[in-house]
Amino acid sequence: MQLAKKIIIALILGAVVGIVLNLTAPDLFETLNTYLFFPLGRIFLNLINMLVVPIVFFSITLGVAGLADPKKLGRIGLKTILFFLATTAIAITLGLTLASVIQPGNIGSFDTQGAEYEANEAPSIADTLLNIIPTNPIRAMAEGNMLQIIAFSILVGFGISKLGNKARSLLGVIEQGNSLLMYLVNLVMKFAPYGTFGLIASAIGSQGFDAIQAMFLYMSVVLLALILHAIITYGGAVWLFAKINPITFFRKFFPAMTVAFSTSSSNATLPVSMDIAQKRLKVPEPVSSFVQPLGATINMDGTAIMQGVATVFIAQVYSEALSFPELLIIVLTAVLASIGTAGVPGVGLILLAMVLNSVGLPVEGIALILGIDRLLDMARTAVNITGDAACAVIVAETEKKHGDISVPHVKETESL
Ligand code: ASP
Repeated sequence: MQLAKKIIIALILGAVVGIVLNLTAPDLFETLNTYLFFPLGRIFLNLINMLVVPIVFFSITLGVAGLADPKKLGRIGLKTILFFLATTAIAITLGLTLASVIQPGNIGSFDTQGAEYEANEAPSIADTLLNIIPTNPIRAMAEGNMLQIIAFSILVGFGISKLGNKARSLLGVIEQGNSLLMYLVNLVMKFAPYGTFGLIASAIGSQGFDAIQAMFLYMSVVLLALILHAIITYGGAVWLFAKINPITFFRKFFPAMTVAFSTSSSNATLPVSMDIAQKRLKVPEPVSSFVQPLGATINMDGTAIMQGVATVFIAQVYSEALSFPELLIIVLTAVLASIGTAGVPGVGLILLAMVLNSVGLPVEGIALILGIDRLLDMARTAVNITGDAACAVIVAETEKKHGDISVPHVKETESL
């Protein structure tokens, strides 16, 4: 059976087992979670996280070495950033609009008395931008600092292309390293169905269903906005700019979305989403390896949607009105805030604290959505990485008129 199908079956099975145990046998769930679900999920997460940093380094270095032309790199970079900024702005606006119309915070009663939330400090945008150049690339890799790894890899790739023959064997090593990593992704993905099952069963089984009931409307607004954004913004963009049928795009990319859904981490999904973009969506390696790792860090539309809905929701619960200039501040803060923070589980809440602060809304309001955020995190991560893939597809298509950008020597490995 195809791997993608196995993952979907595992996802459904995990959800069913999680719900049934949660409702009927919480004690059994605890035991199974400790000895089975959690370890299965952890092993899978570790396996794919293990590959993220080397894949980003090898593939960007190879991609840039293949691009050779700094003008091309500049043009791809500009298109990518514009796409990221535009779609994130659309995403947060959609979230704000839907929440203002449906008003999830004005229906039902919410207990704000005991609400407490200690917000983690988010890095400032200036710091992030200034720190893009690593003082120590090994530390950047050890810490998994994606923007720094990207900057270092671009420079190394550029150097290799300029040195030409003098760095030929180094280029060979990078090519082989890249092929090896792609092979390892395929190998590790054989474990994906078991990992997915464990992650989903564990996440769903530990949910409080009372919290879901109370927050049902809020969750529905976030999910509706996520679905609309994926279909209209991404579907429309790939159709308009890349002339690709949106159904084909989603069908081919779907396996990566299921991995994002089960891991709740754009970063961890990178090896899979890059593999699928390159093999199934035919995005040339240099484009995919540049756009997607960058996107995993700075392009989080699903997260922006949650921030839009959550901000309006919290304002409604605390009966605070948001003026038009405040809404603009929210859009701006959310777009900028997402730049500096990596795509890992739960990061959206840290960003939300920043957005709430920017318009003086109570950060404790986050406590209201905390209980159900894990579930929404899964859905918004799937949207986050789909945005990166849509961007990669569009950049690749619009680059075609400027000549071939595939890396000729990369050996094809078996696709997922
Ligand atoms: N988990 C999300 C991601 O990795 C970020 C978030 O919204 O918390 O893309």
